[in-house]
Amino acid sequence: MPTRLREVPIHRTTDLSLYRDLDGFDALTAELRSLGAEVSRAMGRRKVWMISSTASGGGVAEMMPRLCSFLADVGVEARWLVLEPGEPEFFRMTKALHNMLHGQPGFDDPAGARAIYERVSEEAAQELRQIDRGDIVVIHDPQPAGIASRLRERCRPPLLWRCHVGIARRNRWTDEAWRFLRPYLAHYRRLFFSLLSYAPDEWLDRSRELCPGIDPFSHKNRSLRPYKLVGILRSAGLVDGPPVPHWAAFRERVCRWSDAAWVEAPIADLLHVPTIVQVSRFDRLKGFAPLIPAFRRMVEFCAKEAPRLRADSERVLSEVGRAHLILAGPDPAGIADDPEARDVLEELCGRHAGLDPTLRERVHILRLPMADVKENALMVNALQRIATVAVQNSIEEGFGLTVSEALWKRTPVVAANVGGIAAQVRQGSDGLLVDDPGDPEAVGRALLQQISSPLAAEAMARSGRLRVREHFTILSQVRSWLHAFGAALEGGDRGPSPAG
Ligand code: UDP
Repeated sequence: MPTRLREVPIHRTTDLSLYRDLDGFDALTAELRSLGAEVSRAMGRRKVWMISSTASGGGVAEMMPRLCSFLADVGVEARWLVLEPGEPEFFRMTKALHNMLHGQPGFDDPAGARAIYERVSEEAAQELRQIDRGDIVVIHDPQPAGIASRLRERCRPPLLWRCHVGIARRNRWTDEAWRFLRPYLAHYRRLFFSLLSYAPDEWLDRSRELCPGIDPFSHKNRSLRPYKLVGILRSAGLVDGPPVPHWAAFRERVCRWSDAAWVEAPIADLLHVPTIVQVSRFDRLKGFAPLIPAFRRMVEFCAKEAPRLRADSERVLSEVGRAHLILAGPDPAGIADDPEARDVLEELCGRHAGLDPTLRERVHILRLPMADVKENALMVNALQRIATVAVQNSIEEGFGLTVSEALWKRTPVVAANVGGIAAQVRQGSDGLLVDDPGDPEAVGRALLQQISSPLAAEAMARSGRLRVREHFTILSQVRSWLHAFGAALEGGDRGPSPAG
């Protein structure tokens, strides 16, 4: 199978004027219109090409359609291409690179990895016939980064690299990953990182910070009236109820791991008990596995300590005593660039099987279908809204959009104090941060605190929502991109010479 770059059609799903009326966005929408007009004039007939590695699953795929649609709203044509490598080994190799950028072990065979990467990059560059001289090319993440050197030779477009992954600390694995990428990154005029601290020192002068953001009106985040919320959970097969009308039926239902098999069956009492929810890709670095012992510790602490904790200890005991833990992620079959997800999910199911039966009934591993992006987004939306506490227990985290998603919904958050999460949540003001996601005591205590003190938890979530509005919505991101395109067109901030 040859390597391809498949174009994903962009549908105009956004309408900037709607945001004007959303609390506090009027000034920003006006700014975007005038900035957009300026950049659009400078671009003339030129386009922006976004190139990434998957059209579904994960933060980049989540953001891209709406980002391109917004750019179109302000007059900038953006097209989206997805890399489909001809060699199945390619995504294994880039997953190892991804892990290394997060400070974890990666390549077994660095020379072999480079050979695969070079071949696929070369083939992909050959595929890029659509690009006209002067178009702006934005390449996302390490997977397609190697395409740039070939383009540079051919049509010399302004090349920008957007890196959505990374950590601030360095170790031998991060060093090896950056060494691997060095010859390819030499060709980019600008490098954009979710946090500037992720940029290697040697490229600091060419690097900029560009925060990702959520879209308040997307299916993932839009508000849901109670009947819609319950309808989505019914369509997904997670709660019982009268049959859904045929037009509201989902193409596929959620699968739940139960008694050593995947079943499509509702979770009894889902709407009647407190729930702790983590929604993420099934990736080891997302910290799903340590959440299970943390949940157990939370239940134990409560039994032991509730009488001392508060006057209404009976209520706390009864609530925590009935709480459920939901670990949800996309069906690995639906995510092309993450070949490890299957193994991670299997391990998690193995741990579930080892739980004692009373706890096992309260821990749910959910595989969310990916066949329909909109349905998947609505399921995530509903789960984040029914959550009493949303968790993001990541061991490492580039940014962690799920945190902003939960806070936008005013759902109290417990999250690991790592990477982009620490930039989103101020400890104790917007949510609770845990220094060591692998420490069940610390995570269990934070969960207990959020469930047992609902007023304080909600106050934090309200503050978190304001912070998301200020810094982490897609509108702020569109503004950053418009500035980046403007600067790229002026060419006043060129990176290194083509020789790199
Ligand atoms: N997500 C999704 N469907 C799922 C599970 C997760 O759309 O079944 C989304 C999630 O809502 C979030 C994104 O995937 O928008 C994950 O982005 P994040 O920045 O948290 O992590 P990444 O996957 O990029 O490492």
